[in-house]
Amino acid sequence: MAERGAEVVGALMKMGVMANLQQTIDADTAELLVEEFGHKIKRVSASDVEVGLTGGDDKDGELTIRSPVVTVMGHVDHGKTSLLDSLREADVVSGEAGGITQHIGAYQTTTVGGNKITFIDTPGHEAFTAMRSRGASVTDMVVLVVAANDGVMPQTVEAISHAKAANVPIIVAINKVDLPGSDPNRVRTQLLEYEVVSEEMGGDVLDVEVSAIKKTNLEKLIENIVLQAEILDLKTNPDRLAEGTIIESKMEPGRGPVATVLVQRGTLKIGDIFVAGSEWGRVRAMVNDRGGNIKVAGPSVPAEVIGLNAAPNAGDDFVVVEVEARAREIAEFRENKKRAIRTAVSSQSTLEELFSAIQTGESKVLQLLVKADVQGSVEAIVGLLEKLPQDEVKVKIVHQAVGGINESDIQLANASGALVVGFNVRANKQARNLAELEKTEIRYYSVIYELADDMKGVLIGLMAPEIRESFLGNAEIREVFSVSKIGKVAGCYVSEGTVKRGAGVRLIRDDVVLHEGNLSTLKRFKDDVREVQQNYECGMSFENYNDIKAGDVIECFTVEEVAPEI
Ligand code: GDP
Repeated sequence: MAERGAEVVGALMKMGVMANLQQTIDADTAELLVEEFGHKIKRVSASDVEVGLTGGDDKDGELTIRSPVVTVMGHVDHGKTSLLDSLREADVVSGEAGGITQHIGAYQTTTVGGNKITFIDTPGHEAFTAMRSRGASVTDMVVLVVAANDGVMPQTVEAISHAKAANVPIIVAINKVDLPGSDPNRVRTQLLEYEVVSEEMGGDVLDVEVSAIKKTNLEKLIENIVLQAEILDLKTNPDRLAEGTIIESKMEPGRGPVATVLVQRGTLKIGDIFVAGSEWGRVRAMVNDRGGNIKVAGPSVPAEVIGLNAAPNAGDDFVVVEVEARAREIAEFRENKKRAIRTAVSSQSTLEELFSAIQTGESKVLQLLVKADVQGSVEAIVGLLEKLPQDEVKVKIVHQAVGGINESDIQLANASGALVVGFNVRANKQARNLAELEKTEIRYYSVIYELADDMKGVLIGLMAPEIRESFLGNAEIREVFSVSKIGKVAGCYVSEGTVKRGAGVRLIRDDVVLHEGNLSTLKRFKDDVREVQQNYECGMSFENYNDIKAGDVIECFTVEEVAPEI
């Protein structure tokens, strides 16, 4: 404010706040103080530098159809890589424009009908979830590969949970149908158990029998992807500054940091200045999945970008900004935030974070990931959990399976903010390390009812406690004295009930509440006392508040938090 320190301290004193120049004052007091000096105030927080980083919403008229982005998931060895390879080769424009040869983390193919499809080139759900845990939702649909000779396996189930948690539709590719002993219908029946109901079974999940190796029925799979994309009605505005997500990034000798960006709206151009996570840069060159240099990359087009100052993380956002100063400012702010998080001795567990999210009203769901030793236990636990009363806080099971707790479980739990519950199973070393790193809470049990009771406790903890106020007494202010060191002291007469030290107090003038706070002193004559009864006189003063007058009434009350019951 460019005001003298002594005057600021003086003004604070007048407001009843005793603070010196080194002390921090709360925001409300600061606001009053600034206004007191005749300045205009606007509250900001450090994170405000990010406000308006991504542009506003697009109008309907500005939207055009964009091609879908697909991730292939499934159990190991069921043919994800083979399928991605075959789909890459099925591209129809490869002849003249050169084949899709570069591995940049994603590629875009053109179908016979002229539609384009973008495939994320890292199969499996690790990359998918790692991105999602950074808040990136890149994938529009998941192709779930299930080998027809092997059927639904643990990672198939994990993939289903990951897709469902991300709210992304699934298309099932029943693979290896060329093999003897393959039984596509068995796959369909097995999938029913996980609520993946194919059209043939009366549901709405599209499925195709394919062979990635023999390249049979790939067109049908592509058709289904196009169909699913039509259902999703994917649209975006290509005529604006680009925004997207980092798919992959690395340091390359001779080229420096390179990152593959998947543009999600707008169009990325050479020379654009951008922020990517806590890094920034200017697009010096762009390379596509065919190894060719490109000048622009529109929505759903993956492009390798050269011109970063350092390598960002997969899943980081990528946003083009108008000027370099803005890019620097945001990157710096995010870097500082990262540093603060790294250095903070965090003792917070997922559960505590969850508590605070729920208390601030951000969330009203207790997400759980349940692993147990046998299927019977899984079902019993989920059954019990679902029966818990959930009026205020809902229980949601993000994944349930038999077996030890693995890394993928932790990733999923972390991406969904879930608590991991292990019944007669333990986390393996990698999972433990990851859980420690990500501060994901794992709870172990060996008695089902203990588990249920504990979860009940968690639910109660998550429910807002009821605040009950009880009236204690009223005191009338007869006279006001100024006492050095304490400030103003009210000479009072307790007209009703009792007044107690430590109780909440309100200052009431002409039936209007002027202030609510705490008592700083309660005296009978010269002595500090704990309480004063009706019809006695006493001296009272407020913490940080001095605007009191003879004739005011001080109302005294207690507040009790009553734990809810279920
Ligand atoms: P991923 O672990 O899911 O990526 O599986 P891969 O793509 O590496 O495939 C695992 C094995 O299955 C490889 O030996 C492939 O050759 C084989 N495979 C994949 N798709 C098919 C298929 O459609 N038919 C047959 N017979 N084998 C396949």
